[in-house]
Parts: sequence; C-alpha cells; structure tokens
Amino acid sequence: MSRIFVFLICLFSLSSCMNDTTHPKDGQNGDFASPHQVHEPEMRFGVLWEGLDVDSGRVKEGQSLSHILDAYKFGSGKVATLAANAKDVYDVREMRANRRWWIASTADSLNIPEWLIYERNDIDYVVFSLGDTLGAQLGSYPVDTLYRRVQGKISRSLYLDLEALDAPTSLSISMAGVYAWTIDFTHVQKGDIFDVYYFRKMANGKPVGLPVILSSSFTHHGQPLQAYRFNQGDGEDYFDPQGASLRKAFLKSPVEFSRISSAFNKKRFHPVLKKIKPHLGTDYAAATGTPILAVGDGVIIKSAYTKNNGNYVKIRHNNTYETQYLHMSKRKCAVGDRVRQGQTIGLVGSTGLATGPHVCFRFWKNGAQVDHRQEKFPPSAPVRDENMQAFAKEVLRLEKEADSL
Ligand SMILES: [Zn+2]
Repeated sequence: MSRIFVFLICLFSLSSCMNDTTHPKDGQNGDFASPHQVHEPEMRFGVLWEGLDVDSGRVKEGQSLSHILDAYKFGSGKVATLAANAKDVYDVREMRANRRWWIASTADSLNIPEWLIYERNDIDYVVFSLGDTLGAQLGSYPVDTLYRRVQGKISRSLYLDLEALDAPTSLSISMAGVYAWTIDFTHVQKGDIFDVYYFRKMANGKPVGLPVILSSSFTHHGQPLQAYRFNQGDGEDYFDPQGASLRKAFLKSPVEFSRISSAFNKKRFHPVLKKIKPHLGTDYAAATGTPILAVGDGVIIKSAYTKNNGNYVKIRHNNTYETQYLHMSKRKCAVGDRVRQGQTIGLVGSTGLATGPHVCFRFWKNGAQVDHRQEKFPPSAPVRDENMQAFAKEVLRLEKEADSL
C-alpha cells in the first residue's frame, strides 16, 4: 500500500518536472507582454480597494458595530441608519467576537471611511458601504474543492498515520463519523487498512469544515467495511455496497418474548429495598434460562458478579453507546470478546438483588444512563428499491473517480 503511495508521489513530481521543461516560461520564445498593458485596479471583497488606507482587527468580546465604527468619526445616527439599511441583508446584532473586520478609508487627509468588511465565517463576509449610500451586501470567498485519496495501514494510531501520509488528521473524525456504528475508533488495531476518497473545501488557502468522505474502505480485524456516500432524497448518508445503511438499529429488547416488568423510572419505589431508588434500567421478565441477546455489535467490557447486579455483562457498542445486562443465571461471554447483534451473551436469572427471573437492561449514551425506549436513534434504513439503480451507478462513479487519483 505504501509502495503505491510513494509511486504516486513520484508520478506527481515527475509530471510537474516535465511541465517545467516542456512549457517555456512567459516572455520566452518572443511571447512578450504587450507594452500597452492596461493596469488592473486592485479589487478586494468585490469592491475597489486600490489606494485606500486599510485598518483591520477582530471583533472584541461585547463589541458591536457602533463600537468598531466609533474610532472612525462615524456618528451614532449614521450607525443606526447603516444597521437599518442593512437589515434585510444582514442583521448587525449577529456580529460575533473574534471574527475579523477591515475598514478602508480614503488615503487623503480627510481619511473618510468607505467600506467596512465583516467576516461572518471562513467563507462569507458582509460588505458595508459607509460612503454616500449606507448599506450592506453579502459576499463570499472563492471556494476550492480538493479531491484526495489516502491509503495506509495503521502502524501507530490513525491520527499519527494520517499525519505521516500528509493527510488531514481531521479525516480521522470524519472516518469515525462514517463508521460510528461499526468500528470503535478508540480501538483500531495495528495492521488495520484504510483507503479513503474524500474532498475538502478550501477558502483563502485554508480548509473549511471537516473533510467529507465520498467512499471508504476500512479493514478492521481482517474484514473490509466499505462505505459509499449517497443521497436518496433525505440527506447524505453512507451505505455498504449492497445498499445497507452503515448505521445499525439496536434490537428493541435484549430478550425475545419477554414483558416489561419495570420501566426506567428516576423515582421508583424499590420492591426489595422498600425505599425510593431511581431505576435506571428497563426490566424484562422472562423464564430462567431464556437467552439474553446483545442488542448491537460491540465488545464486552465487563463480565462479572457483584452482590447487587448478580451475574452481569456490559457491552461497548461504539463511541456513543454502551449497554448492560443484569441478574443473569449464567454469563456466556468474557471481557474482550467481540459480539454480534443478536448473539447470546448470557441466560436470564435472578442473581443479585432481584425478586424473580428478569434482565435489568441498562443503556448508556455518552456516559449517562438513559431510557433507551425514549431515545431517538438516527435512521438506519437501506437504499430504497427504486433508488438501487442510481445507487449502483453512484458506487461505480465514486470507484472510478477514486481510482483516477
Ligand atoms: Zn432493573
């Protein structure tokens, strides 16, 4: 993989070298610039910028438009008119601390301010005209989209390996997003292979936002997981080559044919302890020995016995979700095991603090226990039948594009 990469770099430097030698520089071979060349006046932010005195700075904490213009002998009446005239285009109350501004004034002794430019974000700015007509218009920097492909093998960490390949390290965040439901990126391993085709928006030579993955293959535990970006009308999403969503829904409950005997309740009266004790789980009653299923793919992070929990198991599914299963009569997994959704991880019992055979199912989201039945999970629907043809075409297109890089 790395040999291919080095080869690509050689190709690149070779071709640029050839460009230099085969194309004569301007001015050679009698290709002289015209002696009557017209001077192009300097423009910036879409306005005439030449010959103006320019001040610039950043909006300070608590500063408003009038604070900035104060130093330029711009009366408060004029500021109010400017804000009113600009209102339909831009609400000046939306100006934020730390954003950049420029004020261009005439270079004569009067030093009359003509333009105020306020940079709204890395791409968009507002041009306030301060001269004869007070008003505003919106503008944007030209945005370049760079398409790249990075291939590599994890040797230290994804972050460091991306850095060594001269790829943006923020690509690791984009990758973790694409594979949030399938790969735990805090546990990627040496030897895992990645091949990612992505684009990056650039304005003023700086990246804007995170790299966007178009297609990707990540080989984890020897198994390649492919992802393709596709929009079937309800937003961009990632699918495997068969059109299945990369997001996975959890099973509705960890036990089939069970009934909920006690719901998640922060003010529950505990039947054994005879006092108010929050119940941060959902109890599913079922006969002793009924299989308890992992509600999603993951890694076993706890398999133990304690006085209250009895035999219990905890699964880490991804960077966001963990689940725990209590009161088992028997555990059927060990710490470190990788389990699949629907796999039996233990059997229903009443070990620990329990009045009868049931599973106390607990659900963690970002480290906090939540009622999984109230959670809104992102959709995990596959590509719809009527879109499969378009999806197949998109997969081919992305593969061809990636191969050309
Ligand atoms: Zn419970």
